[in-house]
Amino acid sequence: MTPAATEHHAAFLDELVDAGLLIPSGVDGVFGRGVVLEQIRTAFEQFFAAEVVASGDYEQLRFPPLLPRRVLDHFGYLQSFPQLAAGIHAFEPDGDGGLAERPTDLVLCPAACYPVYPAVAARGVLPAEGIAVDAGGAYVFRNEPSPDPARMQMFHQRELVRLGEPAVVRAWRDEWLERGVEILRSFGLDARPEIANDPFFGHGGRLLAASQREQELKLELVVPIASAQSTAVASFNYHQEHFGAACGIELANGEAAHTACVGFGEERIALALLHTHGLDPNTWPSSVRERLWPVQ
Ligand code: ZN
Repeated sequence: MTPAATEHHAAFLDELVDAGLLIPSGVDGVFGRGVVLEQIRTAFEQFFAAEVVASGDYEQLRFPPLLPRRVLDHFGYLQSFPQLAAGIHAFEPDGDGGLAERPTDLVLCPAACYPVYPAVAARGVLPAEGIAVDAGGAYVFRNEPSPDPARMQMFHQRELVRLGEPAVVRAWRDEWLERGVEILRSFGLDARPEIANDPFFGHGGRLLAASQREQELKLELVVPIASAQSTAVASFNYHQEHFGAACGIELANGEAAHTACVGFGEERIALALLHTHGLDPNTWPSSVRERLWPVQ
């Protein structure tokens, strides 16, 4: 990170804290939220929920921000990104007047779509048309402390998941990319699609990253926030058979279902709006305000 970029982060973070939008915890990337930031975030949630309802038949599922550790293991996440994962430890008396720590079988959930795959697998063979799931806006955790306020360790991810035949799933992902661009631009954000080169799922690190890029499996929408480089605020991931095979989600023909997910980072979108339009939403362009806070 260049010194200029660090100064830019620090200046924006100071402004957010001074305005009562973020409440520092003393740990990089972990913040409380003031009421105005929360109003922006929940307004986006409501806007998005209406978009989802308008776009078809999504099953609504909600999960806590925790996963059994074996699920992360099974997905290959602990092999590919052990440094990003974090587990829950329990405390117990050590018999010596002190405390001992014991790992539980729970980890913090790193992506809001992860609990969906085992839940759908438990139902047996997928229906012919597949399934579309709205996994809501869950808290997720990535162990990557950063001074950039847009790179939080714990944040809300609004995720949708599609499971089914390969062509259907890929087309769904591509449609949502276009839709994502329209949504973010309608908020006055300068959103641009990019092919991502950080592998987010699967085994094999760099090799997978290269082939993922080539096949355009992971696309992102980036927006300028508090960094010299634009920050990804949404991602559109075609996992092929990765999760279907790992969980045993089967199509009627016996093959592993393909899956895709789209995820919107709610805090990053709120910060992008604040960075673009100013720290007081009352002064934002009326077109943006009306989309976020429609008059009932
Ligand atoms: Zn996902």
